[in-house]
Amino acid sequence: MKLFRKLYLQVFLGMFILAVCLLSFSAWEVKRQGILEAREYGTGQAERNALRFQEKNAEEKINVLGDHLRDIVILNNFQECFGSNSVLWRDGEELRNLSPYILDQELLDEMRRNARVSETEVFVSGPFAAGERRLLVFYKARAGFGEENTYGFAIFQDVTELYGRVRKLVLWGMAFAGILLFVISLLLYKKLYGLLRPLEELKSGAADIAAGEYESRILVRGRDEIGDVTKSFNQMAEQVERHMEELRKVNEKQKQLLGSLAHEMKTPLTAMIGNADLLLTVRLKEEQREQSLTYILEESKRLARLSEKMLELTGLYENGGAGAIMKCVEIGRLFGRLEGFAAFRLKEKRLSLEMKKPEAGLSALMDEDLMESLLLNLVDNACKASETGGRILVSADSQGIYVEDFGRGIPKAEIGRVTEAFYMVDRARGRSAGGSGLGLALCRQIADIHGAKLLIESREQEGTKVSFVWGEKDRLHEGG
Ligand code: ATP
Ligand code: MG
Repeated sequence: MKLFRKLYLQVFLGMFILAVCLLSFSAWEVKRQGILEAREYGTGQAERNALRFQEKNAEEKINVLGDHLRDIVILNNFQECFGSNSVLWRDGEELRNLSPYILDQELLDEMRRNARVSETEVFVSGPFAAGERRLLVFYKARAGFGEENTYGFAIFQDVTELYGRVRKLVLWGMAFAGILLFVISLLLYKKLYGLLRPLEELKSGAADIAAGEYESRILVRGRDEIGDVTKSFNQMAEQVERHMEELRKVNEKQKQLLGSLAHEMKTPLTAMIGNADLLLTVRLKEEQREQSLTYILEESKRLARLSEKMLELTGLYENGGAGAIMKCVEIGRLFGRLEGFAAFRLKEKRLSLEMKKPEAGLSALMDEDLMESLLLNLVDNACKASETGGRILVSADSQGIYVEDFGRGIPKAEIGRVTEAFYMVDRARGRSAGGSGLGLALCRQIADIHGAKLLIESREQEGTKVSFVWGEKDRLHEGG
């Protein structure tokens, strides 16, 4: 059963029971009050009448009369003292019944035995339809005079009408309560439906997300707990959507990378196979053999470098920097290791690496290995772009780290594309320098992981400056 129906039924049942209890209680209370009043009035009257009767039949007046006459006087006195709803008996025998009812003897016996005045529901016959149910309340009194004669009276009141009124009242009450219950239950249904509607929406929202509709959101209604749950659900849906979007982008990037990689590998592999085939099938001159073997070696080295960078790049794409170990590292220390790493390239072209070491203590939160890789790639690019004997400047300040060369430069139209994986301005030159076009893509990814930006300024034949600019919260700080 749905929560909504369960709640509705439980509240409805509760209201129903409450209404029945209230009605029964008020009906019982009205009846009780009615009887109490009737009893109070009746008891007083019975006692007064009994006293009058006793006085009228005072011994000295009665005892002088003969038996027959005495009975006539007593009956006369009874008729005078008591009203129409009275019965007189002597020693258990009914002497006179002034009521319109023929009273059950057994009931009167019971009344005599039981001193308590009680409300009794009795069947009576008389001027009414036979078997009609009338409700009578009895009051009992006693009067004694003479030596052996004890007289008893029963006075009763017919409270059938009172009960009829109570019953009518109960029926009206029931009808009114029924209508009220119906109206309240309608309002309750509407209210509960409104309250629990967001739960239904949450359910269908969750089903939408499970079905891949990550943009699905739920309207927040009210500021209660359900509203809070709805808000949390929407936040969760936003996170899921964001993650799914990131995954989709990574997937897309990896697909592109894989396609480019296959394309990139095809040319050197074909050439290597061709050269190997040539070496195996054709008897070449020593010089040609050496040329072929050198080509194969160079291309193999390039492929090895390519696969290394590719692994590094796909790793970064996949975990989005989750594997990065962020530590506070002094920039000076990072620079110190750079010369050793780039020594080969520098020596090759007799380049001078000028490092403007930052003041001591300038440090930042970074993954040291990734930052080393970034600097190495930038210096490598600068080396490749510089003429023999040129110079390269590496510097840092509180805003970022900079690598500047005075070489070939990048055409303005290409600056925006050089950070794409496998993109090279001059493919033939890039290849011959052993490049694969992955270096700057790797640098951009490293900058992303550090919340930094990679800015490239370049002028053809004048040089290039690549700036790694820290994000607002990761600004370098002194005395780290
Ligand atoms: P890899 O870095 O994978 O060995 P690569 O250096 O060719 O190969 P990137 O570092 O991504 O690849 O650079 C992409 C291209 O951008 C280079 O091929 C080059 O044409 C151009 N480029 C990068 N840095 C410079 C620079 N400092 N001066 C001139 N051109 C540059
Ligand atoms: Mg490079």
